[in-house]
Amino acid sequence: MDIDVAKLLHEVLAGLPEGVRLVAVSKFHPDEYIEAAYAEGQRVFGESHEQELSKKAATLPKDIEWHFIGHLQTNKVKHIVPYISMIDAVDSLKLLREIDKQAARCGRVIRVMLELHIAEEETKYGFSRQDCLDMLAGGAWRELHNVQICGLMMMASNVDDEAQIAKEFDEAADLFREVKQRFFADDDAFCERSWGMSHDYRIAVKHGSTMVRVGTGIFGPRVY
Ligand SMILES: *Cc1c(COP(=O)(O)O)cnc(C)c1O
Repeated sequence: MDIDVAKLLHEVLAGLPEGVRLVAVSKFHPDEYIEAAYAEGQRVFGESHEQELSKKAATLPKDIEWHFIGHLQTNKVKHIVPYISMIDAVDSLKLLREIDKQAARCGRVIRVMLELHIAEEETKYGFSRQDCLDMLAGGAWRELHNVQICGLMMMASNVDDEAQIAKEFDEAADLFREVKQRFFADDDAFCERSWGMSHDYRIAVKHGSTMVRVGTGIFGPRVY
């Protein structure tokens, strides 16, 4: 291992204000990188491919809280539901229903976040502001008792313009407030604002983030 995971992890943690949690994004990195972070006390890890995650979850310590942070296909849900801690990027009611169905089979309640699409890039998944509000206003999710919607997640545009990035985080924070007020006012579990990655988590924590997802900044560049 030619990277000092422990040092980088502690640097990231030191930069997070009280109350902001870290998902260490370990996708494409081997088990020894995860073990190095685990040895420093990190327990929350993020992965974005079902097979890679299932392999890692089978061999690595059982008290790791795995987050599925990528785009999840409905046919993959059943594989991760028995052990997943949180599904961070639910981008359709269909996916939410499938998670609920599979979670019921395992007798679990799965914590999820709804993914917003605010960035300018066309390729990213997620609900637009209006689609998010329409889906929640539709109310079908209220019948899904094996999923718990815990907040909103988004990725800002992949640009250098910090003002642009900050503006997108603020938009997400505004929508969070609206959604909280209209649909989750009495639900303390709905509290997460998951934004910020290696290049923009320092901005994100100044704009309402409660949960950052940092990969490269801890484990170095990914080898695909
Ligand atoms: C890969 C990934 C990250 C981590 O990205 P880094 O730039 O390596 O910090 C965060 N969030 C999501 C959704 C990702 O897919």
